[in-house]
Amino acid sequence: MMNIDTACVHGFKDKFNQVGSINVPIFQTVPYKHKQIGDLTEYGYTRLHNPTREAAETLVATLENAVGSLAFTSGMAAATTLFQLFDSKDHIISTEDLYGGTITLLNKYTVEKNGVEIDFVNTGNISDIKAKIKPNTKAVFIETPTNPMMHVTDIAAVKAIMPKGALLIVDNTFLTPYFLQPLGLGADIVLHSGTKYLAGHNDTLCGFLVFKDTDLLDTIKLIRTTFGAPLAPMDSFLLIRGVKTLALRMERAQQNAMELAQWMTTHPKIKNVYYTGLPNHPGYDIMKKQASGFGAMISFEVDTAETAHKVLLGAKIITFAESLGGTETLLTYPMENTHGEVPEEERLARGINDRLLRLSVGIENIADLKSDLEQALTGIAI
Ligand SMILES: *Cc1c(COP(=O)(O)O)cnc(C)c1O
Repeated sequence: MMNIDTACVHGFKDKFNQVGSINVPIFQTVPYKHKQIGDLTEYGYTRLHNPTREAAETLVATLENAVGSLAFTSGMAAATTLFQLFDSKDHIISTEDLYGGTITLLNKYTVEKNGVEIDFVNTGNISDIKAKIKPNTKAVFIETPTNPMMHVTDIAAVKAIMPKGALLIVDNTFLTPYFLQPLGLGADIVLHSGTKYLAGHNDTLCGFLVFKDTDLLDTIKLIRTTFGAPLAPMDSFLLIRGVKTLALRMERAQQNAMELAQWMTTHPKIKNVYYTGLPNHPGYDIMKKQASGFGAMISFEVDTAETAHKVLLGAKIITFAESLGGTETLLTYPMENTHGEVPEEERLARGINDRLLRLSVGIENIADLKSDLEQALTGIAI
């Protein structure tokens, strides 16, 4: 078996390549000529099968040590398809501190429209999950670390209390398989917004579901085919191209994040730093145990809302923009951008106030990032 940094470069399988092309060809076709009559497994139509997409799926499955994966047009398309597994007889337990889009999906469609019952808890507290388990609990859905508060969940500890037959689903967007492999800790399905670290360059929207079990993959593949959200050939190519440098980008972004987080803890205008790589972070020990790195996402609370606004508009290299996981360092205002739809009372109770900022640390030079943040915070260049 390849090491993961080698797999990032070589882990796609391009079974049609006969000319020795180093990169995967983009099969920009919808129909394929039928070779026989009545063979439903052959290539027929790109919504079902596409070699470039399959190469991307093989790559992500290889990185996650999975039996297979399915690629979608976005992380939300992957999540939407996944939650079609559940109906009004079912109960789900979910992390409360979720990505904003997932909150809307679960509340408005999974619960209100499809009638699924969901309890939202801090999955960092295993006893909170345990207290909500019912005979019809069909899944536990976890983000770790969470967005934006960086709560950490012990995946193996959740696995240990899972009811029989229920699915443990982990959104691994923040850490990627380079730092965390949830299937090895007991997860059944891994969700990715491939838009973020996997594609990695803030230029491609895509999503993945990764499986431990082929039956489940087949069930979800039929939903994807029917709902119609498979990843396009060109975007599949861009994903494969992006993943080639995943190991390098994750290492550099993490190194920058660690240095920046440590510096931030000493800054007079910064009151709280939420980074899982700081030893005083409540999730630090679990991260040490289950992941091989801390990632590059930092949330921090400044002294006043005015300072927060100054930083958002005053940063020059760091860009006020709503995404994460790319080469560029991006800064967001969770209260407005990612969590604008969460009711105010709930938002504040979770710490998402008008002083909280979230930083996706990129791969620039750390000295430039520090001096940019300093001038944005204080108006004084260092
Ligand atoms: C961005 C994101 C999603 C949604 O992915 P898209 O590719 O934007 O549809 C889901 N989960 C997490 C943790 C995310 O950061």
